[in-house]
Amino acid sequence: MHPEPSRSLPEKAAPSLTGWGGSPAGPTTLLRPEKMRDFKPGESPQIARGMGRGYGDAAICGEGHTVLTERLDRMLSFDDETGVLRAEAGVSLADILTTFVPRGWFLPVTPGTKFCSLGGCLAADVHGKNHHVDGAFSQHVTSARIIPADGAERIISPDKNSDLFWATAGGMGLTGFITEVSLKLKKIETSWMAVKHTPTKDLDQTLDFLAIDDAENPYSVAWIDCLATGEKLGRSVVMNGRHAAIGEIPLRENNKLDGSFSKQKPMPFYLPSFVLNKFTVKAFNSLFNLRQGSRGEFVTKFDPYFYPLDGIKNWGRMYGKKGFVQHQCVLPHESARDGLRAILELVTESGRASFLAVLKKFGPEGRGMLSFPTGGYTLALDFANKPGLDEFHDRLDGIVLNAGGRVYLVKDSRMKADSLPYMYPRLDEFRKVLRQYDPSGKFASDLSRRLNIAGD
Ligand SMILES: Cc1cc2nc3c(=O)[nH]c(=O)nc-3n(C[C@H](O)[C@H](O)[C@H](O)COP(=O)(O)OP(=O)(O)OC[C@H]3O[C@@H](n4cnc5c(N)ncnc54)[C@H](O)[C@@H]3O)c2cc1C
Repeated sequence: MHPEPSRSLPEKAAPSLTGWGGSPAGPTTLLRPEKMRDFKPGESPQIARGMGRGYGDAAICGEGHTVLTERLDRMLSFDDETGVLRAEAGVSLADILTTFVPRGWFLPVTPGTKFCSLGGCLAADVHGKNHHVDGAFSQHVTSARIIPADGAERIISPDKNSDLFWATAGGMGLTGFITEVSLKLKKIETSWMAVKHTPTKDLDQTLDFLAIDDAENPYSVAWIDCLATGEKLGRSVVMNGRHAAIGEIPLRENNKLDGSFSKQKPMPFYLPSFVLNKFTVKAFNSLFNLRQGSRGEFVTKFDPYFYPLDGIKNWGRMYGKKGFVQHQCVLPHESARDGLRAILELVTESGRASFLAVLKKFGPEGRGMLSFPTGGYTLALDFANKPGLDEFHDRLDGIVLNAGGRVYLVKDSRMKADSLPYMYPRLDEFRKVLRQYDPSGKFASDLSRRLNIAGD
């Protein structure tokens, strides 16, 4: 039997660790190993935590150990023939970009923040604006290493221990500690993006634009004005993009492969909750539609294109001290139009302001047993944590269930356990793998307990 991790590492009590949305979670004890290989899972419940960009309670183990991977940040090897980078699980996407963009390589799939760890990206099987073309993160992972509950590190890949690999991709850290990830990067000619913004007048037009298979532009996303009502419901700015070629970048730019980021602007304090109401959000959305919709075609640096929110430090503070939640769902193609309409109508009727309303198209489902993406459309909405949010959330989930869709676990902090098997039909297969590798349930998080992911 392995010693308790708390006996081999200094501990720090964290009474108020939260997810990115800032809603309070139970007390936990933090551990920060210097090398994951020296670290063995203990008997008390535990979960890994990367950069804490999951919105809800996935990376917190209340009444147990939350194991930080921030010191596991070494890049181990790079093969410039194949583009495969082998790195420890705590290495961030930002570090990879800084190191590899100047060498002409880019991430094959990236979420909307670069402040994520490789381990967190595999455990949530994250997606980007190019899912309909390139699939989810795990599709570009050639192999990984993981320490499951028995403490014996294993190599996992689509060919080796593949059951554990596909349970780990999207498995929310419940299959063990990911120690290393090998990721296949993709070649780029410049660090610039060629972007096209198209305003749409309503939801149908937005979906029609996103549905176009535009092979030239692998990235696409629509920013919806979610306070527009009536005939304008679902109006948006559709943003298509691709990596720019050398001939397209501004002549004055002599650095065609610039891996630097825009300077972050601070959000120095929490906004009082009354500031964020449907009128301020409406004003913001109208301004946004007007400005972004009229930009047409242009080239821009990769950082503001992929990571607009990273430009504001602690942007979550604009939702006030009580934090916020993000509801991200995916609805299958056949029910997407009606389902999205029902969601947007509910949001506008409720008067609950959502600054962020992002719609993307997903390609076919991958192989991860609990991976979120499945063929259809995904909508992400942010809501300030105000009274009545639970009931409102249940109504949103009801629409998603009726439409045969699912909610993204790494964003969730409110879903009910009985929805899980309907949303994730491969749950039993996942539980079978868990029973094999972690029969006594050493890996657990506030999320896994709330949703009974591991089963009884
Ligand atoms: C502004 C913003 C934009 C975002 N945009 C997108 C997007 O476009 N697409 C998308 O898919 N997601 C998006 N996300 C969510 C984000 O990509 C995921 O939450 C990602 O998992 C965060 O990585 P992390 O290192 O912060 O993980 P954490 O939040 O720390 O953890 C997330 C999960 O990964 C597990 N985990 C972390 N490290 C390990 C490890 N070493 N071993 C085992 N399990 C581990 C944790 O236990 C937890 O279950 C966004 C988040 C933000 C804040």
